[in-house]
Amino acid sequence: MSNFVLPGDKIAITEEYESGKNACDDGHIVRSTVIGENQIDKKDRLVHVKNHKSISIPEEGDIIIGTVEAIMGSMMAVLIKYINSKPINSGVECICPTKNIRKRNVALVKDVVKLKIVGHLNGTIHATIQEPSLGVLFTKCRKCGMGVKPLRDIIKCVECGWTDDRKLSSDFLKTDFLKVGE
Ligand SMILES: [Zn+2]
Repeated sequence: MSNFVLPGDKIAITEEYESGKNACDDGHIVRSTVIGENQIDKKDRLVHVKNHKSISIPEEGDIIIGTVEAIMGSMMAVLIKYINSKPINSGVECICPTKNIRKRNVALVKDVVKLKIVGHLNGTIHATIQEPSLGVLFTKCRKCGMGVKPLRDIIKCVECGWTDDRKLSSDFLKTDFLKVGE
């Protein structure tokens, strides 16, 4: 388990752990030097602090959940709300190519989607949607804005009956989606 700490917070004593990344000690008490989460490395007897900034920026392999902000041809921009199930509020966006997905509507603006981060390129965070667990978690009918339910590999509006498609996540409509992927 990790804990949220502030600069100056005591995070260990040097008899147990030595200061690692973003930590310092006076020969006795180890303190954090940044806002972040302390992480105990039992093997090397070090205590590190993962700073807050790096928590809010997803890294390669992280699973993010966010809302689609824009669809731009064969790309979509997603505002990241959760990284590995942890809520973030830093306004970070990632982009995700949708060119190879054989769906008329991979996702719509305001849909909630689950993506995997593939890396950073030219200051932009890139993600993929091409795995079964990745895709749309929540969406609405394009015609009337009401809820939809899955019908084999398409979706159908519960109100007007309009059928449509999306790249659905295997967690589509699961209410405990935040726990998935931990
Ligand atoms: Zn409808």
